[in-house]
Amino acid sequence: MKTINDFNFENKKALIRVDFNVPLNDQFEVTDDTRIQSAKPTIIKILEDGGSCILMSHLGRPKGIEEKYSLQHIVSTVKSVIGVQVKFINECVGETVEEAVADLASGEILLLENLRFHSEEKSGDVDFAERLSKLGDVYVNDAFGTAHRAHASTAVIAQFFPENKCFGILLSKEIESIDKVLNNSEKPVTAILGGAKVSSKIGVIENIIDAVDHIIIGGGMTFTFVKALGGTIGNSLVEEDKLELALNILEQAKEKHTQIHLPIDAVIANNFANDADTQIVNTNEIPEGWMGLDVGPKTSEKFAEVIANSKTILWNGPLGVFEMENFSKGTIALGNAIDEATRRGAFSLVGGGDSVAAVKQFGFADKVSYVSTGGGAMLESLEGKTLPGIEAILN
Ligand code: AMP
Repeated sequence: MKTINDFNFENKKALIRVDFNVPLNDQFEVTDDTRIQSAKPTIIKILEDGGSCILMSHLGRPKGIEEKYSLQHIVSTVKSVIGVQVKFINECVGETVEEAVADLASGEILLLENLRFHSEEKSGDVDFAERLSKLGDVYVNDAFGTAHRAHASTAVIAQFFPENKCFGILLSKEIESIDKVLNNSEKPVTAILGGAKVSSKIGVIENIIDAVDHIIIGGGMTFTFVKALGGTIGNSLVEEDKLELALNILEQAKEKHTQIHLPIDAVIANNFANDADTQIVNTNEIPEGWMGLDVGPKTSEKFAEVIANSKTILWNGPLGVFEMENFSKGTIALGNAIDEATRRGAFSLVGGGDSVAAVKQFGFADKVSYVSTGGGAMLESLEGKTLPGIEAILN
């Protein structure tokens, strides 16, 4: 696996695909600079070598050129995060861009305009990728968030750098941490799968069932399993067409000696609202008119025990409706258990889908070993898929 540490960038122009798809407020100010912070080590290493950086990214989902999605809005944030002046050009291919690149001196950064202002980016157009490739001596992919897309700048472009292509520091860390959980893990390995639906996690469950020792199930998908086992779930979230599949997963787990842990009690509510009436009941005895919105205290205790005995932990998805305070306790208790296990030396990886939002909201981001920067890309990696952006560098 070639990374930027295999290159000396002195007098070289590094064309870096970053993921600067950051959230902006109504004034077009960056409200969360995590993705820019995450690209910093790669940019700094290249500048310190005596190279220059040409940064390319997408922002949002523009249909053609839309001013509100201009990367101009993020220039000042990139400058303050990296601590170096940032030049900006309002195009990403063509003569004026090539001239700006030619004028770029060692130690300088040039940010290109939103790649998705050209539809050729998403369609993976080879000519467009070739035009982009003219802008650098070395192609660096550091955008894990888009590594599952075969776009011009994330995958197709790599063919124009047969020798001079590599992973940035962020992307190589993402690859290593997934590998540490699925292939080179210290046992016992525990995966916690929460979130809303079984259907969105089924690919992950089927892929990891062999690699892990324990699977903890939480969140809305609990009730599809509980109903499949004959429990009464009231008005809880359920996917009727996945009942058989749930039983099938439990059967597969038995054959593979993977233990599946389902919640034993639930915090139930008579309404999907923070101020609803609540009670704590057994997960398989939820009365009509009530729905399970969080795991109960007995479940939290049981899950904490499993986690305390784990050496490798993967966390994907909240255990309850964590956005509402009254249904966030199970997710917080889980975070605390993972924090303690990590302090005792376990490796913990959080990522995929919305998990990162929960981890950040409750202050666990600094307490786990690694928080992935890619929702969809992480889920697809956990499903065992080879991501086009990664494959293009490896080939
Ligand atoms: P995901 O993107 O699949 O990780 O799902 C995250 C969403 O699942 C969050 O918005 C949670 O509010 C939601 N969720 C978690 N537990 C439940 C539950 N018991 N019932 C309904 N939604 C839930």
